[in-house]
Amino acid sequence: MAGKIAVVIGDKLREYDLGANHPLRPERLKIALALAKNYELISSVNILTPRLAKFEELLLFHTAEYVNKVKEYSRLGYGLLDAGDTPAFSGCFEITSWIVGASLLGIEAVINGKADHVFNFSGGLHHAHQDKASGFCIFNDPAVCISVLKKKYGIKRIAYIDIDAHHGDGVMYGFYNDPSVLDIDFHEDGRYLFPGSGFPNEIGEGKAKGLKINIPLPPNTNDKLYLEAFHRIVPAALRSYEPEIILLQSGADSHKGDPLAHLSITVKTYSEIALWLHKFVHEMCYGKIMIFGGGGYLLSNVARCWVKILSIFLEKELSEKIPDE
Ligand SMILES: [Zn+2]
Ligand SMILES: [Zn+2]
Repeated sequence: MAGKIAVVIGDKLREYDLGANHPLRPERLKIALALAKNYELISSVNILTPRLAKFEELLLFHTAEYVNKVKEYSRLGYGLLDAGDTPAFSGCFEITSWIVGASLLGIEAVINGKADHVFNFSGGLHHAHQDKASGFCIFNDPAVCISVLKKKYGIKRIAYIDIDAHHGDGVMYGFYNDPSVLDIDFHEDGRYLFPGSGFPNEIGEGKAKGLKINIPLPPNTNDKLYLEAFHRIVPAALRSYEPEIILLQSGADSHKGDPLAHLSITVKTYSEIALWLHKFVHEMCYGKIMIFGGGGYLLSNVARCWVKILSIFLEKELSEKIPDE
């Protein structure tokens, strides 16, 4: 059941740099890619060269007022795009548009059958809202992808699964009353962690009632508890929804030791989730899955989690030994 797999790779994507002292380090993309190359995974995938998202594509999710504001700050090269976490930098409009374009390219490849599974390590900017930046995220690439899937390709049932330690608020509230998005979000309890949302009583509105599923986890949640929750909730929800495509935001900051969060899972959880989803997408939706990166602030963990996920979709065993390089 191996499917065609592609990875979006381009130098532009590494220029999303919020400053030398900012915890979101663009080097993580380079390290993840280097590790994947060392395991000889990259030679088995299709490489997609990113494109720039068009202004009109950004507007499928974001407001024109906000997109223009980013453009203006990008030209100025300084200022804050939110209350403090997301500084503007020179060219930030273009760089974020490259990241959105990279994710859109992945979606196009999956929909057009060029690939079954696509990974964009640089994507997963899940906190940006329609009208504002938040939590290091300027434009919300998964949300723009969802909008394009709906509006351009007429997809009616999209499942978005978010395993980043932080609640994917931009995506969830962006489609809160939209029944074409089943949103399942595992994250550290909002009472302890940014953005302070994603409680179990937030279940969606109107026709989407019951289609937004929040699983807040207490600090120190380990593999056993996390996976129990995953298996108790995800298979049943996905089987009853019958998605046409799955989007996975695979933030690596849920890993033990992340400096910005307090969950205690290991690569084992990322691995088991990827295994289960891989099997499921081939069974349910012709293999269609788009995988985004996301958070992750301890560089070695980020690389290990994402490379493990990639290896699972490639059906390649990784040796236990991490290559020296
Ligand atoms: Zn496959
Ligand atoms: Zn995060």
